[in-house]
Amino acid sequence: MTATLNAAAALEIRNVHKSFGTREVLNGVDLTVNPGDVVAIIGPSGSGKSTLLRTINHLEKPDLGYVAVHGELIGVEVRGTHLHELSQRAVRHQRTRIGFVAQSFNLFPNLTARDNVAEPLIAHKRLDKPAAYERAVELLAKVGLGDRGDAYPRQLSGGQQQRVAIARALALEPTLLLFDEPTSALDPELVGEVLSVIRQLAATGTTLIIVTHEIGFAREVADTVVFIDEGLVVEQGPPAQVLTAPQHSRTREFLSKVL
Ligand code: ADP
Ligand code: MG
Repeated sequence: MTATLNAAAALEIRNVHKSFGTREVLNGVDLTVNPGDVVAIIGPSGSGKSTLLRTINHLEKPDLGYVAVHGELIGVEVRGTHLHELSQRAVRHQRTRIGFVAQSFNLFPNLTARDNVAEPLIAHKRLDKPAAYERAVELLAKVGLGDRGDAYPRQLSGGQQQRVAIARALALEPTLLLFDEPTSALDPELVGEVLSVIRQLAATGTTLIIVTHEIGFAREVADTVVFIDEGLVVEQGPPAQVLTAPQHSRTREFLSKVL
């Protein structure tokens, strides 16, 4: 493997292809994200956005191309031949540096909010249990739920559950946070509280990649908006460019449907 990695980039995606059966879902995605950037990914349903996030988070392997996080290669494969495959251990380690928040909150239903947030700290032996519980409550306070540590997921609203999921994603202090449509499963009145937490994170300098249909939010918080269609980055740039003066007809067509 002779690719020259850009160690300064928080994330570098080069020529990533991914098929499921005969269906090519990613058709050669290129994307570079600088540390501290907030990137909003928009695009039609089925265009490969979730697959791209799952590839970054090691849940899918590229068929071709590579993904690197902070200059560390996390997936390289050329048409089925693994040129540089990390050990399971290295993959596990790298995944601790990537936080992932899905559309459905995926909390453990039998654990309290506090225990859900403490779980990664305990599983990865970062802290002993009492310290992990203390840290979990601090993290819950960051998302406005410092007093709900004892609540079980079913006792919380969808917006609160999603905020617990964000606190949990922050537990291992990831350098890269991925959000896959974090508000699309929420009732409209609960969207604002979750966006407000993400807005705060954006201001702290964490690198964020957010797949979202909230175009207004993307315009407000993103440094870069990336429009993906049919497994390809069609267009990317500052919100004022991509959302206000898109260059491509496919971007214009998509925006005319969602705005
Ligand atoms: P988006 O998030 O943009 O809506 P996805 O990445 O979820 O798009 O999906 C892109 C396409 O890939 C869809 O047609 C979807 O059905 C297909 N797909 C995604 N994951 C799988 C899988 N594990 N097996 C087969 N097809 C999949
Ligand atoms: Mg999706």
